[in-house]
Amino acid sequence: MGPTQYLDQPPPHGQDTLWRGLARQGEARLLVVRATDAANEAASRLGASPEVTKLVGELVVASLLVRSTLNPDARMQVYIRHDGPTGKMVVDAWEGGGVRVYVKTPEATSALDGALFGPGLMEVARTHAATGKSWRSTVQLQGDRIEDFMMHYLLESEQVLSLLRVEVTVANGVIENALGYLVQLMPEGTREDLQRMTANLETLAPLATGMTPDDPDGRDWAQALMAGFRWDQCAREMVEYECRCSEARIVHMLSTLPRADLEEMAADPNDLEVICDFCRTKYTVKPAVVAELLEPPS
Ligand SMILES: [Zn+2]
Repeated sequence: MGPTQYLDQPPPHGQDTLWRGLARQGEARLLVVRATDAANEAASRLGASPEVTKLVGELVVASLLVRSTLNPDARMQVYIRHDGPTGKMVVDAWEGGGVRVYVKTPEATSALDGALFGPGLMEVARTHAATGKSWRSTVQLQGDRIEDFMMHYLLESEQVLSLLRVEVTVANGVIENALGYLVQLMPEGTREDLQRMTANLETLAPLATGMTPDDPDGRDWAQALMAGFRWDQCAREMVEYECRCSEARIVHMLSTLPRADLEEMAADPNDLEVICDFCRTKYTVKPAVVAELLEPPS
């Protein structure tokens, strides 16, 4: 049992990345993410207020971490439904580190209600990419922050003891850091493992102080968190803002509308404009394209 083995060549400091570490007996695992660029892209596409920008950062970081605990090729969609100022929020994260976010009212502030969201529900849908099979589970929003909601979900639906921490800082409406980590004690873990991990967490410095130009992955920081465990850094994926929309997908979505709606659109001489909820890309669909949807398939 030698010292920790690390992956070759950490990415340059400041580049988005998600890496995982695993204790050699399988008793604990660690996921660490930097998603600053992805979170900024998601927030600016939405035109988010500074407060919602921070929230988007938290959603991106927490969702990427939780998705990474699933099967490698699983897609995870998180729907947060509540009565607060932001309205419905959706995060979509998939294989290979892609992520996108929708917020119904991105310009919201907490000025009136004292909070950005109210009591509600979080639904998590997981889809296996290869088979298309999906699972859904819903939990109450418990706690005040996104990380609380996600930890509650992991405990309720996965029965795994998890600690999730999100660190997002915003200055002048721009995210400076969107970082986070998730530690899980696996069923192989003992009471001593739990005590050791708890003690390590009590004295742990913020991740932002650990991810430095000299140590972009925060290896020294991770050693402090995993002190007493024999563990290795074992995998990495890139993290990137991406939207899955395309003209073909927009037309497919239109094809699911009621026939009467399609007939009305096809009769309108003007082009139809459809804006993607996630990335705000504007698509222009010709009435003739809508008319084609009305024809029986040949
Ligand atoms: Zn889009």
